[in-house]
Amino acid sequence: MKNLVIPRNDDRCALCRIAKANETGSHMVPNLLTAVAFSFDGKYKRDREIVEKYHKNAPDSNSVHYGRNVAADKVTADLGHEMTDEELDNNINTLCYDYIFCKDCEKRFGVLETAFGDYYKTGKSLHPRLAYLFWLSVFWRMSIGYMGLFMDARDELDIRGILDKNLKIREEITGSTEKMGDYGYAVFRLDGPLLKGDSGVFGTNWSRSPYVILVADQVVVLFTNYSKLHKKTIVFGYEIDKDNINTYRKDDYIELEMSIEELYDFKKQIVESTYDVFGREQEEMARRIREMERTSGKACSKKDFYAIMQLLKPREKKMRVRQAYRFRAAYVKMLEARARGEEYDFLKDRELMLTQDDVNNYIEDLNNFKARGISLVPFAFAREFLHDDSIPPFEDTLAAAKKHFESEHENAMNLEEIWSDD
Ligand SMILES: [Zn+2]
Repeated sequence: MKNLVIPRNDDRCALCRIAKANETGSHMVPNLLTAVAFSFDGKYKRDREIVEKYHKNAPDSNSVHYGRNVAADKVTADLGHEMTDEELDNNINTLCYDYIFCKDCEKRFGVLETAFGDYYKTGKSLHPRLAYLFWLSVFWRMSIGYMGLFMDARDELDIRGILDKNLKIREEITGSTEKMGDYGYAVFRLDGPLLKGDSGVFGTNWSRSPYVILVADQVVVLFTNYSKLHKKTIVFGYEIDKDNINTYRKDDYIELEMSIEELYDFKKQIVESTYDVFGREQEEMARRIREMERTSGKACSKKDFYAIMQLLKPREKKMRVRQAYRFRAAYVKMLEARARGEEYDFLKDRELMLTQDDVNNYIEDLNNFKARGISLVPFAFAREFLHDDSIPPFEDTLAAAKKHFESEHENAMNLEEIWSDD
Protein backbone atom coordinates (compact mmCIF):
# COMPACT_ATOMS: atom_id res chain seq x y z
CA MET A 1 0.00 0.00 0.00
CA LYS A 2 1.34 3.41 -0.97
CA ASN A 3 0.87 6.88 0.49
CA LEU A 4 0.57 10.21 -1.29
CA VAL A 5 3.71 12.17 -2.10
CA ILE A 6 3.45 15.80 -3.15
CA PRO A 7 6.26 17.04 -5.38
CA ARG A 8 8.09 19.76 -3.45
CA ASN A 9 10.82 22.20 -4.38
CA ASP A 10 12.95 21.24 -1.41
CA ASP A 11 13.21 18.26 0.92
CA ARG A 12 12.94 20.11 4.22
CA CYS A 13 10.18 19.49 6.74
CA ALA A 14 7.09 21.64 6.08
CA LEU A 15 6.78 22.63 9.74
CA CYS A 16 10.27 23.35 11.12
CA ARG A 17 11.78 24.06 7.67
CA ILE A 18 15.12 22.83 9.03
CA ALA A 19 15.28 19.05 9.26
CA LYS A 20 14.89 16.70 6.34
CA ALA A 21 11.30 15.59 5.74
CA ASN A 22 11.91 11.91 6.42
CA GLU A 23 8.64 10.87 8.06
CA THR A 24 6.22 8.58 6.25
CA GLY A 25 2.51 7.96 6.81
CA SER A 26 1.59 11.43 8.09
CA HIS A 27 -2.08 12.27 8.47
CA MET A 28 -3.08 15.76 7.38
CA VAL A 29 -6.48 15.25 8.97
CA PRO A 30 -5.94 13.34 12.23
CA ASN A 31 -6.81 9.68 12.15
CA LEU A 32 -9.31 10.08 14.98
CA LEU A 33 -11.46 12.21 12.64
CA THR A 34 -10.96 10.36 9.36
CA ALA A 35 -11.78 7.06 11.06
CA VAL A 36 -15.16 8.55 11.93
CA ALA A 37 -15.72 9.92 8.45
CA PHE A 38 -14.64 6.93 6.39
CA SER A 39 -15.05 3.77 8.47
CA PHE A 40 -16.68 1.12 6.31
CA ASP A 41 -18.54 -0.47 9.23
CA GLY A 42 -18.88 2.31 11.80
CA LYS A 43 -15.97 1.04 13.91
CA TYR A 44 -13.55 3.85 14.54
CA LYS A 45 -10.29 1.99 14.30
CA ARG A 46 -7.28 2.27 12.07
CA ASP A 47 -7.26 1.26 8.41
CA ARG A 48 -10.99 0.60 8.15
CA GLU A 49 -11.52 3.45 5.72
CA ILE A 50 -12.99 3.40 2.27
CA VAL A 51 -12.03 6.74 0.77
CA GLU A 52 -13.33 8.00 -2.54
CA LYS A 53 -11.29 10.91 -3.75
CA TYR A 54 -12.72 13.29 -6.34
CA HIS A 55 -10.72 15.93 -8.07
CA LYS A 56 -12.84 18.23 -10.15
CA ASN A 57 -10.07 19.61 -12.32
CA ALA A 58 -8.39 16.26 -12.84
CA PRO A 59 -11.02 13.52 -12.92
CA ASP A 60 -8.37 11.07 -14.15
CA SER A 61 -6.81 11.25 -10.69
CA ASN A 62 -10.03 10.25 -8.93
CA SER A 63 -9.54 7.16 -6.82
CA VAL A 64 -10.97 4.82 -4.26
CA HIS A 65 -8.79 3.61 -1.44
CA TYR A 66 -9.50 0.59 0.74
CA GLY A 67 -7.86 0.46 4.16
CA ARG A 68 -5.90 -2.63 5.17
CA ASN A 69 -8.61 -3.74 7.58
CA VAL A 70 -11.65 -3.29 5.36
CA ALA A 71 -13.37 -6.66 5.16
CA ALA A 72 -12.29 -8.54 2.03
CA ASP A 73 -15.88 -9.40 1.09
CA LYS A 74 -16.76 -5.69 1.20
CA VAL A 75 -13.92 -4.88 -1.22
CA THR A 76 -14.92 -7.75 -3.48
CA ALA A 77 -18.55 -6.66 -3.45
CA ASP A 78 -17.56 -3.09 -4.40
CA LEU A 79 -15.16 -4.06 -7.16
CA GLY A 80 -17.07 -7.07 -8.42
CA HIS A 81 -13.94 -9.22 -8.02
CA GLU A 82 -11.03 -9.78 -5.66
CA MET A 83 -8.37 -7.09 -5.71
CA THR A 84 -5.77 -7.77 -8.38
CA ASP A 85 -2.06 -7.14 -7.79
CA GLU A 86 -2.32 -4.09 -9.98
CA GLU A 87 -5.22 -2.72 -7.98
CA LEU A 88 -3.37 -3.40 -4.75
CA ASP A 89 -0.43 -1.50 -6.14
CA ASN A 90 -2.63 1.44 -7.11
CA ASN A 91 -4.43 1.39 -3.79
CA ILE A 92 -2.90 4.67 -2.67
CA ASN A 93 -3.89 5.79 0.79
CA THR A 94 -5.10 9.29 0.00
CA LEU A 95 -5.29 10.18 3.69
CA CYS A 96 -1.59 9.48 4.32
CA TYR A 97 1.38 11.47 3.08
CA ASP A 98 5.08 10.66 2.89
CA TYR A 99 8.01 13.08 3.22
CA ILE A 100 6.16 16.19 4.40
CA PHE A 101 7.41 16.35 7.98
CA CYS A 102 10.49 15.31 9.89
CA LYS A 103 10.02 12.64 12.55
CA ASP A 104 10.26 15.14 15.40
CA CYS A 105 7.59 17.45 14.02
CA GLU A 106 5.24 14.55 13.42
CA LYS A 107 5.39 13.92 17.17
CA ARG A 108 4.64 17.56 17.94
CA PHE A 109 1.20 17.18 16.35
CA GLY A 110 0.65 14.16 18.54
CA VAL A 111 0.36 16.36 21.63
CA LEU A 112 -2.60 18.21 20.09
CA GLU A 113 -4.23 15.06 18.79
CA THR A 114 -4.09 13.32 22.13
CA ALA A 115 -5.61 16.34 23.88
CA PHE A 116 -8.34 16.72 21.28
CA GLY A 117 -9.00 12.99 21.18
CA ASP A 118 -9.54 12.92 24.95
CA TYR A 119 -12.12 15.64 24.59
CA TYR A 120 -13.74 14.22 21.48
CA LYS A 121 -14.08 10.65 22.67
CA THR A 122 -14.60 11.02 26.40
CA GLY A 123 -15.65 14.62 26.92
CA LYS A 124 -12.60 15.57 29.00
CA SER A 125 -12.11 19.33 29.15
CA LEU A 126 -10.06 20.87 26.37
CA HIS A 127 -7.75 23.77 27.06
CA PRO A 128 -8.48 26.67 24.66
CA ARG A 129 -4.82 26.98 23.71
CA LEU A 130 -4.63 23.28 22.79
CA ALA A 131 -7.93 23.43 20.91
CA TYR A 132 -6.79 26.54 19.02
CA LEU A 133 -3.52 24.96 17.94
CA PHE A 134 -5.29 21.72 17.10
CA TRP A 135 -7.73 23.33 14.67
CA LEU A 136 -5.11 25.69 13.21
CA SER A 137 -2.98 22.60 12.56
CA VAL A 138 -5.85 20.82 10.79
CA PHE A 139 -6.59 23.81 8.53
CA TRP A 140 -2.91 24.30 7.82
CA ARG A 141 -2.22 20.63 7.11
CA MET A 142 -5.26 20.37 4.81
CA SER A 143 -3.96 23.39 2.91
CA ILE A 144 -0.39 22.12 2.53
CA GLY A 145 -1.75 18.69 1.56
CA TYR A 146 -4.16 20.21 -1.02
CA MET A 147 -7.05 18.47 0.69
CA GLY A 148 -9.84 20.64 -0.65
CA LEU A 149 -8.77 23.68 1.32
CA PHE A 150 -6.47 26.22 -0.32
CA MET A 151 -5.58 29.10 2.01
CA ASP A 152 -4.16 32.45 1.08
CA ALA A 153 -0.36 32.09 1.18
CA ARG A 154 -0.05 34.80 3.85
CA ASP A 155 -2.34 32.87 6.19
CA GLU A 156 -0.68 29.55 5.46
CA LEU A 157 2.80 30.92 6.15
CA ASP A 158 1.63 32.78 9.24
CA ILE A 159 0.01 29.69 10.74
CA ARG A 160 3.14 27.66 10.05
CA GLY A 161 5.06 30.17 12.15
CA ILE A 162 2.54 30.01 14.99
CA LEU A 163 2.57 26.22 15.04
CA ASP A 164 6.34 25.93 14.80
CA LYS A 165 6.81 28.38 17.66
CA ASN A 166 4.15 26.95 19.97
CA LEU A 167 4.02 23.20 19.45
CA LYS A 168 5.72 22.01 22.62
CA ILE A 169 4.84 19.57 25.35
CA ARG A 170 1.34 19.85 26.76
CA GLU A 171 2.17 21.69 29.98
CA GLU A 172 4.25 24.23 28.13
CA ILE A 173 1.35 24.99 25.78
CA THR A 174 -1.29 25.32 28.49
CA GLY A 175 1.02 27.32 30.75
CA SER A 176 2.20 29.66 28.02
CA THR A 177 1.28 33.36 27.76
CA GLU A 178 2.73 33.68 24.28
CA LYS A 179 0.59 35.55 21.73
CA MET A 180 -0.67 33.21 19.00
CA GLY A 181 -2.27 35.43 16.34
CA ASP A 182 -5.77 36.81 15.85
CA TYR A 183 -7.55 33.75 14.48
CA GLY A 184 -11.04 32.81 15.61
CA TYR A 185 -13.00 29.70 14.74
CA ALA A 186 -16.53 28.41 15.14
CA VAL A 187 -17.16 24.69 15.56
CA PHE A 188 -20.44 23.04 14.57
CA ARG A 189 -20.85 19.45 15.68
CA LEU A 190 -23.51 17.03 14.51
CA ASP A 191 -26.07 16.26 17.20
CA GLY A 192 -26.28 12.56 16.29
CA PRO A 193 -24.36 9.68 14.72
CA LEU A 194 -23.00 9.72 11.17
CA LEU A 195 -23.93 7.18 8.53
CA LYS A 196 -21.44 6.04 5.89
CA GLY A 197 -21.58 8.54 3.04
CA ASP A 198 -22.69 11.50 5.17
CA SER A 199 -19.30 13.02 5.60
CA GLY A 200 -15.69 13.05 4.43
CA VAL A 201 -13.03 15.73 4.14
CA PHE A 202 -14.11 18.92 2.40
CA GLY A 203 -12.76 22.46 2.27
CA THR A 204 -13.32 25.78 0.52
CA ASN A 205 -10.60 26.65 -1.98
CA TRP A 206 -11.33 30.31 -2.53
CA SER A 207 -8.16 31.39 -0.65
CA ARG A 208 -9.69 34.02 1.60
CA SER A 209 -11.13 34.11 5.08
CA PRO A 210 -13.45 32.74 6.32
CA TYR A 211 -12.24 29.25 5.45
CA VAL A 212 -14.72 26.44 5.94
CA ILE A 213 -13.95 22.75 6.37
CA LEU A 214 -16.10 19.70 6.97
CA VAL A 215 -14.37 16.76 8.64
CA ALA A 216 -16.17 13.81 10.20
CA ASP A 217 -19.12 15.18 12.20
CA GLN A 218 -17.81 18.72 12.40
CA VAL A 219 -17.92 21.88 10.33
CA VAL A 220 -15.31 24.45 11.33
CA VAL A 221 -15.21 28.06 10.15
CA LEU A 222 -11.89 29.88 10.52
CA PHE A 223 -11.63 33.68 10.58
CA THR A 224 -8.28 35.40 10.23
CA ASN A 225 -9.21 38.65 12.01
CA TYR A 226 -11.17 37.80 15.10
CA SER A 227 -10.76 41.22 16.72
CA LYS A 228 -12.24 42.94 13.67
CA LEU A 229 -15.33 40.74 13.42
CA HIS A 230 -18.77 42.25 14.01
CA LYS A 231 -21.09 41.02 16.73
CA LYS A 232 -22.65 38.67 14.20
CA THR A 233 -21.18 37.16 11.04
CA ILE A 234 -23.01 35.23 8.34
CA VAL A 235 -21.29 32.29 6.66
CA PHE A 236 -23.15 30.17 4.08
CA GLY A 237 -26.38 31.68 5.40
CA TYR A 238 -25.65 30.72 9.03
CA GLU A 239 -25.46 33.52 11.56
CA ILE A 240 -22.53 33.12 13.94
CA ASP A 241 -22.46 35.11 17.15
CA LYS A 242 -19.02 36.46 18.05
CA ASP A 243 -19.51 35.10 21.57
CA ASN A 244 -19.60 31.61 20.08
CA ILE A 245 -16.34 31.96 18.18
CA ASN A 246 -13.35 30.31 19.82
CA THR A 247 -9.97 31.94 20.35
CA TYR A 248 -7.07 30.76 22.48
CA ARG A 249 -7.87 33.53 24.94
CA LYS A 250 -11.40 32.40 25.83
CA ASP A 251 -12.13 30.48 29.02
CA ASP A 252 -13.76 27.45 27.40
CA TYR A 253 -13.90 25.55 24.16
CA ILE A 254 -17.24 26.29 22.49
CA GLU A 255 -19.11 23.87 20.27
CA LEU A 256 -22.37 24.65 18.43
CA GLU A 257 -24.94 22.00 17.63
CA MET A 258 -25.71 21.10 14.04
CA SER A 259 -28.50 18.93 12.66
CA ILE A 260 -27.91 16.34 9.93
CA GLU A 261 -29.84 18.60 7.51
CA GLU A 262 -27.42 21.42 8.31
CA LEU A 263 -24.39 19.16 7.81
CA TYR A 264 -25.67 18.23 4.35
CA ASP A 265 -26.34 21.86 3.59
CA PHE A 266 -22.78 22.85 4.56
CA LYS A 267 -21.38 20.01 2.47
CA LYS A 268 -23.41 21.09 -0.53
CA GLN A 269 -22.39 24.72 -0.19
CA ILE A 270 -18.69 23.91 0.25
CA VAL A 271 -18.75 21.68 -2.85
CA GLU A 272 -20.77 24.22 -4.88
CA SER A 273 -18.37 27.02 -3.92
CA THR A 274 -15.43 25.16 -5.42
CA TYR A 275 -17.01 25.14 -8.87
CA ASP A 276 -16.37 28.88 -9.17
CA VAL A 277 -12.67 28.89 -8.39
CA PHE A 278 -9.81 27.62 -10.56
CA GLY A 279 -9.73 25.89 -13.93
CA ARG A 280 -7.26 23.04 -14.37
CA GLU A 281 -4.42 25.19 -15.79
CA GLN A 282 -4.98 27.81 -13.13
CA GLU A 283 -4.93 25.26 -10.39
CA GLU A 284 -1.69 23.73 -11.63
CA MET A 285 -0.08 27.16 -11.75
CA ALA A 286 -1.47 28.12 -8.34
CA ARG A 287 0.16 25.03 -6.89
CA ARG A 288 3.49 25.77 -8.56
CA ILE A 289 3.42 29.30 -7.17
CA ARG A 290 2.46 27.96 -3.77
CA GLU A 291 5.39 25.55 -3.71
CA MET A 292 7.71 28.47 -4.48
CA GLU A 293 6.10 30.46 -1.68
CA ARG A 294 6.57 27.59 0.73
CA THR A 295 10.21 27.19 -0.18
CA SER A 296 11.03 30.89 0.07
CA GLY A 297 8.72 31.48 3.03
CA LYS A 298 7.41 34.58 1.25
CA ALA A 299 3.98 35.09 -0.31
CA CYS A 300 3.63 36.35 -3.86
CA SER A 301 1.56 39.57 -3.95
CA LYS A 302 -2.15 39.11 -4.55
CA LYS A 303 -1.97 41.48 -7.50
CA ASP A 304 0.75 39.42 -9.21
CA PHE A 305 -1.02 36.19 -8.37
CA TYR A 306 -4.31 37.21 -9.98
CA ALA A 307 -2.52 38.78 -12.96
CA ILE A 308 -0.94 35.38 -13.65
CA MET A 309 -4.27 33.59 -13.13
CA GLN A 310 -5.93 35.85 -15.69
CA LEU A 311 -3.53 34.70 -18.36
CA LEU A 312 -4.68 31.12 -17.94
CA LYS A 313 -7.79 29.29 -18.95
CA PRO A 314 -10.53 29.70 -16.32
CA ARG A 315 -12.85 26.96 -15.25
CA GLU A 316 -15.23 26.06 -18.03
CA LYS A 317 -18.79 26.84 -17.11
CA LYS A 318 -20.00 23.35 -17.78
CA MET A 319 -23.67 22.75 -17.35
CA ARG A 320 -24.47 20.09 -14.87
CA VAL A 321 -27.41 18.57 -13.09
CA ARG A 322 -27.02 18.95 -9.35
CA GLN A 323 -27.50 15.87 -7.16
CA ALA A 324 -28.27 13.71 -10.20
CA TYR A 325 -26.63 10.72 -8.55
CA ARG A 326 -28.80 10.92 -5.47
CA PHE A 327 -32.01 11.29 -7.45
CA ARG A 328 -31.01 8.16 -9.28
CA ALA A 329 -30.51 6.38 -5.95
CA ALA A 330 -33.92 7.66 -4.84
CA TYR A 331 -35.51 6.24 -7.96
CA VAL A 332 -33.91 2.83 -7.43
CA LYS A 333 -35.09 2.77 -3.82
CA MET A 334 -38.59 3.75 -4.92
CA LEU A 335 -38.68 0.83 -7.35
CA GLU A 336 -37.47 -1.54 -4.63
CA ALA A 337 -40.13 -0.29 -2.21
CA ARG A 338 -42.79 -0.66 -4.86
CA ALA A 339 -41.72 -4.26 -5.50
CA ARG A 340 -42.21 -4.93 -1.79
CA GLY A 341 -45.57 -3.18 -1.87
CA GLU A 342 -44.36 -0.42 0.47
CA GLU A 343 -44.79 3.34 0.49
CA TYR A 344 -41.64 5.34 -0.10
CA ASP A 345 -40.94 9.07 0.15
CA PHE A 346 -37.36 9.96 -0.73
CA LEU A 347 -37.68 13.33 1.01
CA LYS A 348 -37.92 11.42 4.27
CA ASP A 349 -35.02 9.05 3.58
CA ARG A 350 -32.18 9.55 6.10
CA GLU A 351 -29.73 7.87 3.72
CA LEU A 352 -30.34 10.34 0.92
CA MET A 353 -30.98 13.63 2.72
CA LEU A 354 -32.64 15.21 -0.32
CA THR A 355 -34.68 18.36 0.27
CA GLN A 356 -37.41 20.22 -1.56
CA ASP A 357 -34.71 22.75 -2.54
CA ASP A 358 -32.77 19.94 -4.20
CA VAL A 359 -35.90 18.96 -6.12
CA ASN A 360 -36.40 22.54 -7.29
CA ASN A 361 -32.75 22.85 -8.37
CA TYR A 362 -32.89 19.49 -10.10
CA ILE A 363 -35.97 20.53 -12.10
CA GLU A 364 -34.32 23.84 -12.98
CA ASP A 365 -31.19 22.03 -14.23
CA LEU A 366 -33.24 19.50 -16.21
CA ASN A 367 -35.18 22.32 -17.84
CA ASN A 368 -31.88 23.97 -18.80
CA PHE A 369 -30.71 20.74 -20.41
CA LYS A 370 -34.00 20.36 -22.21
CA ALA A 371 -33.91 23.93 -23.53
CA ARG A 372 -30.52 23.14 -25.10
CA GLY A 373 -31.75 19.94 -26.66
CA ILE A 374 -29.70 17.66 -24.37
CA SER A 375 -31.22 14.25 -23.82
CA LEU A 376 -32.89 13.70 -20.45
CA VAL A 377 -32.94 9.93 -20.82
CA PRO A 378 -30.15 9.37 -18.24
CA PHE A 379 -31.95 11.33 -15.53
CA ALA A 380 -34.24 9.76 -12.96
CA PHE A 381 -37.69 11.34 -12.54
CA ALA A 382 -37.17 13.58 -15.61
CA ARG A 383 -40.38 12.22 -17.13
CA GLU A 384 -42.33 12.74 -13.90
CA PHE A 385 -40.91 16.07 -12.75
CA LEU A 386 -41.17 17.71 -16.17
CA HIS A 387 -44.50 16.04 -17.01
CA ASP A 388 -43.02 15.01 -20.34
CA ASP A 389 -44.26 11.70 -21.73
CA SER A 390 -41.78 11.82 -24.60
CA ILE A 391 -39.02 10.91 -22.11
CA PRO A 392 -38.98 7.13 -21.59
CA PRO A 393 -39.59 5.91 -18.03
CA PHE A 394 -36.29 5.84 -16.16
CA GLU A 395 -37.04 2.25 -15.23
CA ASP A 396 -36.44 1.31 -18.87
CA THR A 397 -33.16 3.25 -18.91
CA LEU A 398 -31.99 1.38 -15.84
CA ALA A 399 -32.88 -1.97 -17.37
CA ALA A 400 -31.03 -1.06 -20.58
CA ALA A 401 -28.00 0.16 -18.62
CA LYS A 402 -27.95 -3.05 -16.62
CA LYS A 403 -27.91 -5.13 -19.78
CA HIS A 404 -25.26 -2.89 -21.19
CA PHE A 405 -23.26 -3.18 -17.97
CA GLU A 406 -23.27 -6.93 -18.19
CA SER A 407 -22.10 -6.95 -21.79
CA GLU A 408 -19.69 -4.07 -21.79
CA HIS A 409 -18.35 -3.20 -18.40
CA GLU A 410 -16.12 -0.30 -19.44
CA ASN A 411 -18.72 1.73 -21.33
CA ALA A 412 -21.28 1.27 -18.64
CA MET A 413 -18.82 2.80 -16.20
CA ASN A 414 -18.58 5.87 -18.39
CA LEU A 415 -22.31 6.23 -18.49
CA GLU A 416 -22.26 6.01 -14.72
CA GLU A 417 -19.88 8.95 -14.53
CA ILE A 418 -22.19 11.14 -16.53
CA TRP A 419 -25.04 10.27 -14.27
CA SER A 420 -23.18 10.90 -11.10
CA ASP A 421 -21.91 14.34 -12.00
CA ASP A 422 -22.54 15.98 -8.67
ZN1 LIG B 1 10.37 19.32 11.32
